[in-house]
Amino acid sequence: MSYAVKEIYYTLQGEGARSGRPAVFLRFAGCNLWTGRERDRAGAVCRFCDTEFVGTDGPGGGRYASPADLAEAVSRHWPGDALPQARPYVVCTGGEPLLQLDAAAVTALKGAGFEVAVETNGTLEAPPGLDWVCVSPKAASRLLLRSGNELKLVYPQAEPEARPERFAEFAFDHFFLQPLDDDRLADNTRASIDYCLRHPQWHLSLQSHKILGIA
Ligand code: SF4
Repeated sequence: MSYAVKEIYYTLQGEGARSGRPAVFLRFAGCNLWTGRERDRAGAVCRFCDTEFVGTDGPGGGRYASPADLAEAVSRHWPGDALPQARPYVVCTGGEPLLQLDAAAVTALKGAGFEVAVETNGTLEAPPGLDWVCVSPKAASRLLLRSGNELKLVYPQAEPEARPERFAEFAFDHFFLQPLDDDRLADNTRASIDYCLRHPQWHLSLQSHKILGIA
């Protein structure tokens, strides 16, 4: 299998329980909940996406012919002078990474020494061997992944199926609300804070990379 990758870059994880951790971001092209074209946004299942995931033209992007090629490309972004205590970490994201991330790619990335995380909308099965699973449910999509390390819900979403109450009993270690970043961000942040204070199972996740102005 080959892999269509929008971009690969090294940065700090900006969101959720591992916020602040250096990571290689491996952004796969394509998503099953939106085409990525603005003219299709209004009719998409997921309508608030803030990520460019169409094509393979970003830094480090391209078509990688094999799991080994993909792992090698990711490895090139991890600092070569890092001490062994700094375990290499890759965050597979998108778009929707589980359209492409298969067991062979996970094995290749782990063989290259990486701890492998995925950030998914949860509508597709995950391959075995992942070290960290972050599920971010979107609108009224059908959720297959109901367990993992963290559930990160963009809040608020208009659809009743995306209310936090629907997910509170799922089997995750961490539950995060992340304010929807639209033209009502201040209101959405206030609403997220209020919800977390009333339901302390939920913690607030801020997109610190945006606050810091990093990728
Ligand atoms: S599921 Fe994620 S990548 Fe896909 S359109 Fe929604 S926010 Fe964007």
